[in-house]
Amino acid sequence: MKQIHHLINGQSVEATSGNVSPVYNPATGEQSGEVGMASVADVDAAVDAAVKAQAEWRHVSVAKRIAPMFNFRALLAANANEVAKRLTAEHGKVLSDAAGEVARGLENIEYACGITEHLKGEYTENASTGVDVYSVRQPLGVVAGITPFNFPAMVPLWTIPNAIVTGNAYVLKPSERDPSAPMFIAELFHEAGFPDGLLNVVNGDKVAVDRLLEHPDVKAVSFVGSTPIAKYIYATGAANGKRVQALGGAKNHMVVLPDADIGLAADAAVSAAYGSAGERCMAISVLVTVGDIADPLVAAIGERTSKLVIGEGTNPDSEMGPVITAEHRDRISSYIGAGADAGATVVIDGRTDSFDNNGNFIGCSLIDHVTTDMSVYTDEIFGPVLCVVRVDTYEEALQLITDCPYGNGAAIFTRDGGAARDFQDRCEAGMVGINVPIPVPVGYHSFGGWNDSLFGDTAMYGPEGIRFFTRPKVLTSRWPDPATSAVDLGFPTNV
Ligand code: NAD
Repeated sequence: MKQIHHLINGQSVEATSGNVSPVYNPATGEQSGEVGMASVADVDAAVDAAVKAQAEWRHVSVAKRIAPMFNFRALLAANANEVAKRLTAEHGKVLSDAAGEVARGLENIEYACGITEHLKGEYTENASTGVDVYSVRQPLGVVAGITPFNFPAMVPLWTIPNAIVTGNAYVLKPSERDPSAPMFIAELFHEAGFPDGLLNVVNGDKVAVDRLLEHPDVKAVSFVGSTPIAKYIYATGAANGKRVQALGGAKNHMVVLPDADIGLAADAAVSAAYGSAGERCMAISVLVTVGDIADPLVAAIGERTSKLVIGEGTNPDSEMGPVITAEHRDRISSYIGAGADAGATVVIDGRTDSFDNNGNFIGCSLIDHVTTDMSVYTDEIFGPVLCVVRVDTYEEALQLITDCPYGNGAAIFTRDGGAARDFQDRCEAGMVGINVPIPVPVGYHSFGGWNDSLFGDTAMYGPEGIRFFTRPKVLTSRWPDPATSAVDLGFPTNV
């Protein structure tokens, strides 16, 4: 069975706690490995290595910092299939999805390679007579990343490249459920020529997370995961004086106006609701139909959904794989049952699909006539379940989003430019799509939700990522004018 250890100071290091956590193949239900859980001492060793590496790294020139980043990009691109295989083996997502995840990660490395442009600073000459004012951004020191199971490669890559090129060292605590892809990426990072200790990976659970949150040498924490844990990370990290960005869960709405193209909206809803088995923080989980588009749209979605091929992620014909664990599958099932009991119409019931192995499979579900008091509406299910809420007016649709405690993404489908423009202005979400169901920003913008989907004030990657991993320093300098100054500067004034 595969043994997964930490990566500390460039070396594979066994956990000292004696505790291990099983890693499964979600498509078969079989255990494929075990990962060692970090003790406090393991975390301390990783932070110590990072402190030492950062003390030198912060003085390395910008040009020399990006040279290995270009190598890292090339190595990751060359090994994209291998990373994708590891993602599918432990997360379960289909290989094409896994390849897409790697591609989105590469975008963030590419952005970091342009750090020469992003770190230029500002300069005001002669702010007062003989006085110049300029600002620079300096690294924080050691920073930590704590990441979720659903994007084990992409989410660490949201922050590692920008943190490193801005002069920090990094300690990553990936999800214990699928740690092989981030471990492999960290190995590629070292192969790219970065110094030992600059990127360390500690596997673990709350013990490791709590130590990172309280360690005095960890200056900032980037967290991505569920809302209750995000709140905890934000509060605990801030209480310990750290800079924190903590991204939480979501319940993303897709509003479809009566004038929308039904085929376009149905295709978008199916891929956004069921892609990656709905285990995406930007998945569409609520479809809000306005007016009389509801019947034909639900029919079009139902027709497409029933044709989706569900199977092992390694099978090229599969369009959707299993969910992460058997417990999670059962939790999803119970939500569907609760929706039916509360009076919703289960148009397609994923619980009735049968699969011929022990994987964590569940079919897609489409639930119509959902109301806002039902748990299928209020809770983040994080599975292949699409709820339909029918309303009469655009204002009612917008109000649903305003009242939702989350605010990650939202989308509108319409041919009406005025409605779209109003939606982009008034919609309570950090990322908004217009005829785009999953508006994940490209790597040179930044990713972040509002309300219960993000705690802290900085979104991830892109320009906000650079700001998060640096602190500003403003310098004010006065030099006497050599021609008029009575001060003897000690060197000839005509040079
Ligand atoms: P999770 O919150 O259970 O775990 C995230 C990380 O926190 C993991 O590394 C885990 O080991 C750690 N953790 C778990 N419990 C902890 C505790 N009690 N104390 C300290 N650390 C703890 O999330 P998950 O199930 O891995 O991921 C799914 C969730 O992540 C969903 O809610 C999804 O919406 C969210 N997510 C959000 C975004 C976003 O950008 N907003 C992106 C991806 C995933």
